[in-house]
Amino acid sequence: MELTRRQFLQLGATSTGAVGLSPLGFDLVPARQVKQRLRVEGANVSHTVCPYCAVGCALVAYTRKAANGSVDLLQIEGDPDSPVNEGRLCPKGASALQLAVSRRRVPSPMYREPGATEWKQVSWDFALDRLARNIKASRDRTFVTTDAAGNVVNRCEGIAFAGGAAFSSEEGYLATKVMRGLGVVYLEQQARV
Ligand code: SF4
Repeated sequence: MELTRRQFLQLGATSTGAVGLSPLGFDLVPARQVKQRLRVEGANVSHTVCPYCAVGCALVAYTRKAANGSVDLLQIEGDPDSPVNEGRLCPKGASALQLAVSRRRVPSPMYREPGATEWKQVSWDFALDRLARNIKASRDRTFVTTDAAGNVVNRCEGIAFAGGAAFSSEEGYLATKVMRGLGVVYLEQQARV
């Protein structure tokens, strides 16, 4: 008998032999004990789509309301019912939980002053203001209107931009639009927007 993965799991879940054996002869008692301890047991289940690329793999997110009223995100995994990914995720999608919940995530901008060796936490206002001033100064200093042959090029050669792998598709699109608007030509993006 040929079984799909889903049929196999359903078969195991519905078999209730007195000795706990599935029709295939597996002892299901340990599996049930493990299931009782799953931290997503009783959690709310939401269906969504991976934000990282245009493949559009479907995700299942498990959440639970905490005693203080906040919502805890417990787990994100591939949706086995999706015809796109059938429960699978690439390594990037499999780490989607860490996009929202990670102890290693840096919670605020970090700044290292010229010549300094230590990074320090700064406010978003400080970081964005500093960024804007530096971009303006670099662009003004390195903007090229015509090339050596007299062709109009209107490009900024003094800034390069590399979009990170944790960009969602929309963030990658926005960053690319902003950089192209500035005339940046050295533009690379993990999502290849
Ligand atoms: S990043 Fe990976 S998991 Fe996410 S949609 Fe693309 S292929 Fe699927």
